[in-house]
Amino acid sequence: MRTEFDVVVVGSGAGGGVVASELAQRGRDVLLLEAGPHLTAADFVRWEAKATHDFWWPLRLAPLTGGEALAFLGGRCVGGTTTINTKVALRAHERDVAKWHAATGLTSDGTTPFAAPDLDPYYDRVEAVLGVRERRDWQKSVHTVEPGFRSLGAELEPVRSYTDANCMSCGSCLQGCSTNAGKSTMNTYIHDACAAGLLELRAHATVERVVIEDAAGGMRATGVEYVDGDGARVAVDARVVVVAGGALNTPQLLVRSGLGGSGHASPSTAAIGRHLGVHPVRLVYGLFDEPQDAHMVYPITAHCMDHQHDEDGGFVIEATTIQDPIAFATTLCDEQGPLWGTRLVEAVRSFRRWVGLLAMANDDNNAAVVVEEDGGERFDVEFTAADLERIESGLRFSREVLEAAGATQVYWSALASTHVQGTCRMGDDPAQSVVDRNGESHDVKRLFVGDASLVPRTLSVNPSLTIMALATRLAEHLDADPAGYLAA
Ligand SMILES: Cc1cc2nc3c(=O)[nH]c(=O)nc-3n(C[C@H](O)[C@H](O)[C@H](O)COP(=O)(O)OP(=O)(O)OC[C@H]3O[C@@H](n4cnc5c(N)ncnc54)[C@H](O)[C@@H]3O)c2cc1C
Ligand code: SF4
Repeated sequence: MRTEFDVVVVGSGAGGGVVASELAQRGRDVLLLEAGPHLTAADFVRWEAKATHDFWWPLRLAPLTGGEALAFLGGRCVGGTTTINTKVALRAHERDVAKWHAATGLTSDGTTPFAAPDLDPYYDRVEAVLGVRERRDWQKSVHTVEPGFRSLGAELEPVRSYTDANCMSCGSCLQGCSTNAGKSTMNTYIHDACAAGLLELRAHATVERVVIEDAAGGMRATGVEYVDGDGARVAVDARVVVVAGGALNTPQLLVRSGLGGSGHASPSTAAIGRHLGVHPVRLVYGLFDEPQDAHMVYPITAHCMDHQHDEDGGFVIEATTIQDPIAFATTLCDEQGPLWGTRLVEAVRSFRRWVGLLAMANDDNNAAVVVEEDGGERFDVEFTAADLERIESGLRFSREVLEAAGATQVYWSALASTHVQGTCRMGDDPAQSVVDRNGESHDVKRLFVGDASLVPRTLSVNPSLTIMALATRLAEHLDADPAGYLAA
C-alpha cells in the first residue's frame, strides 16, 4: 500500500470530493481519505433508521437557552453530506459575499475586496459537472401551499438543483439516491476520477491528526495519520494536506494536530472553531383535509426568496416536504413544546395530510466548536437577539402561509442545523481568520482547508454550490503551485 502522495485530502464531501477530483483530473497524485463507508446507489433503500445509523454522523446536539436543543445533521460516507442532502443548487447572493470582506478582510488579490463575481467561473464549472437544472415539476403539495404565499403578497419560484431528469420524486434523498439522479460528489467528481484510474480513494479511514513539523522555515504539514477499518494506524506523507472534514470536524482535527486550544497559539489559531454559522432551520407543518403525500416528492422544488435579506426578515422558505416517520414523530412541537400522547398519535395518523415548509434563518456566526480538555467535542450555540427574531419571523410567516392555504392545524419541528459553516474561515486578516485567501493556514505551510469551514459569513441560501466553487478555486490554486510545493 502506498504511503507517499503529492496531496492528501481528508474528507470526501462537497469540499474534499471536489478538490481531490479536480486535482487528480489535472494529473496530480492524490489520496482521498474518508472516515465513512463507500456506499453507492445499489446500497440505498428508504430505511430511515438504517441510513442514519450506517452513513450519517451520529446525531450531535447543542443545548440552547430555554431547554431546547439544536440538532446537527450530516453525512459520514463517501460523498459526505452531498450523499444525503436535497441537492438544491443556489449561488450565493452578492450581498452575502460582500459580508466576507467585512468579516475577515478577504480580498481576491491582496487589495480588491472579494466579491461575488470572483466565484462565477467556479460556479459555472460546478454547475456543468453536476448538471444543475431548474425544477418546475411541482407536485400537489406545492400547489396546495402556493395560494397561501400569494395571499401574503409573496412568491414561490422554482429552485435549481443537481438532480437529473431521472429523478422519480421518491422523497428519499436523505437516505441516499437509489437512481443516481441525485448528484453527489461521489457519483460525479469522485467516481469520474476513480473510474479513470486517476484518484486513490480509501474509505473507513479516519484521520486522527495532521503531522506538523516545526522546521527552520516555520511550521509545515508533512502528512496525516489515520486509522483504517481494521483499527490499524497508517501514516501517509504528502507535500500538501487539504483538510475537508466539514465545519464541525475540521477545526477539531486541527486542534488535535496541535493548533489552537492548548497547542500552538497565535491570533489565527485562536480563531479555529469560532464563528460557527449554523443557519438554523425548522420544518413548519400544516395539516390539510386531503392527502398531500409530501413525503413522496423531490423535497424542494420551490422557494420563496422575498425575505432573504436581513432587512426583509432574514429568512428563506423552501417548499414542500415532510420528514420520514421517525424524524417527523420525534421532533414535532407546538407552543407547549414537544408533542406527546394522543396529540402525537393523531398527528402521525394523519401523516399523508401534512405539508411542510422549510424555514431557514440567517445567522450572525456566533456559535463555536470546542475540543474539551478530555478530548471530547462540544458545540456552543448562543443565538443573538437578531438571530432569534429571524428564526421567529420565519416560523410566523410559514404559519401564516399554511393557514392562508387552508391548513387546519400547524405544528413545527425542533431547530436543526444542516448548513454548518465558518469555523476555519478564510481571510487576509490573520487576527480574524484561520486560513488565507487561498485556503492555506496562516501558521502552517502546506496545510490547506477545503470545506464549509472556509465560508467567512453564513450564506442566506443552501451552501453546497458555494463550497464546491471554493473547492474548485482551491484546486486551481494548488495545481498552479505558486509556492512550488508540488514541484518535483
Ligand atoms: C439533510 C441535509 C440536506 C441538505 N440539503 C442541501 C441542499 O439541498 N443544498 C445545499 O446546497 N446544501 C444542502 N445541505 C448542506 C450541504 O450538503 C453541506 O453544506 C455540504 O455537504 C458541506 O460540505 P463539506 O465538504 O464542508 O462537508 P461534508 O459534505 O459533510 O463532508 C465532510 C466529509 O469529511 C468526512 N470526515 C470528517 N472528519 C474526517 C476525518 N477525521 N477523517 C476522514 N474523513 C473525515 C466526513 O465523514 C464527511 O464525509 C444539506 C445538508 C443536510 C444535512
Ligand atoms: S427524490 Fe429524486 S434525487 Fe431524491 S432520492 Fe428520489 S430520485 Fe433521487
